[in-house]
Amino acid sequence: MILRKQFLEHVGQTSPSPMLIEVARAEGSFFYTPEGKRYFDLVAGVSVSNVGHANQDVVRAVQQQAADYMHVMVYGEMVERPQVEYARRIAELLPGDIDCVYFVNSGAEAVEVALKLAKRHTHRTELISMRRAYHGSTHGAMSMMGTPEGEEWKAEFRPLLPDVKSINFNSFEELNLITERTAGVLCEVVQGEAGVRLPNVEWLRALRARCSEVGALLIFDEIQTGMGRTGEMFASTKYGITPDIICLAKAFGGGMPLGGVASKKSILDSFTNNPCLGHITTFGGHPVCCAAGLAALNYLIDNNVVESVEHKGLMFEQRLSRHPRILEIRRSGLLMALELGNAEYLYRLMEIFKEEGIMSDWFLYCDTAFRISPPLTISEAEIEECCTIIERSLDRL
Ligand code: PLP
Repeated sequence: MILRKQFLEHVGQTSPSPMLIEVARAEGSFFYTPEGKRYFDLVAGVSVSNVGHANQDVVRAVQQQAADYMHVMVYGEMVERPQVEYARRIAELLPGDIDCVYFVNSGAEAVEVALKLAKRHTHRTELISMRRAYHGSTHGAMSMMGTPEGEEWKAEFRPLLPDVKSINFNSFEELNLITERTAGVLCEVVQGEAGVRLPNVEWLRALRARCSEVGALLIFDEIQTGMGRTGEMFASTKYGITPDIICLAKAFGGGMPLGGVASKKSILDSFTNNPCLGHITTFGGHPVCCAAGLAALNYLIDNNVVESVEHKGLMFEQRLSRHPRILEIRRSGLLMALELGNAEYLYRLMEIFKEEGIMSDWFLYCDTAFRISPPLTISEAEIEECCTIIERSLDRL
């Protein structure tokens, strides 16, 4: 009680109704309160804990790197093994000829860097994003929140970035708004905060073609979809499209704060001269974060975790789609929105979930659906148990 009171007094909040669940420890698919109450974590820190909480490989890597050295100096001056090894390993897995990673601290910063890089590389100013997109909360990233849905959050912060346009995700007609004036087009491959909206693959191809035709850089935001979430290491490879720039964060740090902007070296080199230091960061690519990210990546690969994702997603879908309260399931791998069609039901369900030991959430632009995006390591037995609790909770609505 005292800790909760102090939390409300001393820790800044932007949520008017924090969940107020105290966390004592977390392991695998669960976290626990000090009283020992267990919660199924269906949020995974918003698609962060892909390798499960307290993954021992990641814990060991963090401990070892912290003991070797923590912060020395980053942004590309010093040669630091965790950065080099992680960048090399991730480049092998990224689509097409993307071979280089610039490390940053977070998703929003990765987006900032990608937007700056598009401007710098093309010498153009116009930026285009999708309606109902979410790319982060800094001024630049917020400028790319699709209008009009993002307006509620943006209004009080204007003026934001100039020369920004929104087009409709999956709209073929609006692709011709991308022109020779456009520096970059920013797009989530699967729209997460819109409530898990899947791309039309033909449209993604047409988007790629249009950007190539007019010389605009195509930037994929894989901050939520990367590192196996959709059933392939990257959604770009799942849908077979190679963008010019990929933004990474969330699970990219294996539970530590880390972001990355991946591109061809020749594009990233636009930051290097005239003037130099096109982006700098004190902590981006922190060796402990890179060591954690690399350990998490190796864990995903060595344990064939990504290969199990589609089957696990299907298990959730097949069981829960039979419940009469579930009107629709939108899903890519283990990124799922379960549609109730009614915000009041959803708010009630969140309360019931809290009692039943389920941690879920709604989406920024969709408060009629709840989220299932657990650690990718969740076992089949855990999925069965979790579905039983979710069905019981839905029965109580
Ligand atoms: N892009 C997408 C698709 C996201 O889902 C998020 C966060 O939810 C971000 C960017 C912003 O990442 P961060 O919170 O690390 O700034």
